[in-house]
Amino acid sequence: MRYRFNLLFSCFLVFPWLLWAQSAGVTAIKAGRLFDSERGIVLTNQIIIIRGNSITAVGKGIAIPPGATVLDLSQYTVLPGLIEAHSHLLMEHPGDEDNTLTVTKAVTMEGDALRALRGAARAQSYLDAGYTTVRDLGNSGVYADVALKRAIDEGTLPGPRLYVSGPGLAPEGGQVPGLMPGQTQLITGDYRIIRGVEDARLAVREHVYHGVDLIKIYSNSSPNKTYLSVPEMHAIVEEAHLHQLKVTAHATTDLAIRRALQAGVDGIEHGYVVADSTLRRMRRQHVILVPTDMDFQLAQRQVDKLRMNLSAEQVRTLAKPYHDRLLRARQAGTTIAAGSDMYMGLGLSRGQAAKRLLFAYAEAGLPLADILRAATWNGALLLAEPRLGRLQAGAWADIIAVKGNPLESLSSLEGVAFVMKAGVVIKPAP
Ligand SMILES: [Zn+2]
Repeated sequence: MRYRFNLLFSCFLVFPWLLWAQSAGVTAIKAGRLFDSERGIVLTNQIIIIRGNSITAVGKGIAIPPGATVLDLSQYTVLPGLIEAHSHLLMEHPGDEDNTLTVTKAVTMEGDALRALRGAARAQSYLDAGYTTVRDLGNSGVYADVALKRAIDEGTLPGPRLYVSGPGLAPEGGQVPGLMPGQTQLITGDYRIIRGVEDARLAVREHVYHGVDLIKIYSNSSPNKTYLSVPEMHAIVEEAHLHQLKVTAHATTDLAIRRALQAGVDGIEHGYVVADSTLRRMRRQHVILVPTDMDFQLAQRQVDKLRMNLSAEQVRTLAKPYHDRLLRARQAGTTIAAGSDMYMGLGLSRGQAAKRLLFAYAEAGLPLADILRAATWNGALLLAEPRLGRLQAGAWADIIAVKGNPLESLSSLEGVAFVMKAGVVIKPAP
């Protein structure tokens, strides 16, 4: 009797409780449209099942577990959270100032603590704009970016997932021209200056010790004229790869890109001037290009701020070679990840300003599917993290929703209606 009573108890009381426990923490999203970032297509009427911080199933007509929280996004297009491949959260350039002034003021008058606090607000603006992952590439003091990342990871601050580089590994002078002899030590507040092959290895070890996620180097250090040597860069790549860290190179000229490729880097930032043969070599070596371009709207704002006497037509003419190189990169089959390099205060929030990059790609003539893939799945490839950038079983539940269909008009990305990071709703749909 006692046994039977226990059985009854377990069947009718415990089992339903277990069912409830199983579906607690389960969310189902009904998506009117869903962007498949790997295939570059939009699917209709999809259901996404989320358990904890991850997606467990995606498809049409999937059964929603009883007790699951249902989010009705049937009036929206759902996309993976956007990935910013090139940010500078801890720096702001007013748009009309000498670079050396911006960096030296940041080091001597702003300081790492205030930079990190201001960076936190900029990080949150990215999340509000629909970016759930940001790859931050230096100009962040001495590991103040690592501190910000830790504060976000532990839940102290809201913000996107950060992948941070620490101070960029640079040749003499970093990107700070014009300082007097005796004052150049200021540069080490924002860059790690490399002096030889053994020092290059040591710099990577320092970065590993302090907890960076990737290594940023300056193949050339524009606006300065100095280069890292190929053996220095090669030593950096060897040491970084030992620790499974990717190496990406600031490289603005074809020569700087070719030297970085010779050293075996994984990514190229900017690539403003690049030959077709170099683009093909990047494809062969599986090196990803992060073209950091400015759209006409932001370019016009900067032109106005600088009080330059340039017509809209002249701005378009100046952009033409950069547009051409984007189309040539596509033609060559080079993988493009979307990174804005936005660090200017031009009247928009940092996250909104960064998103203008996608409009720059559209102005160049890249297909919208390619642009959305560059801001999602290709960003995940760049970070070598398959749990990012796609809405698939096993991926992290980093999900955004927009009105309209971004494959028809990019303007639908301007207002992001819903943001979820790691299964937690950050911005609920109205
Ligand atoms: Zn940059």
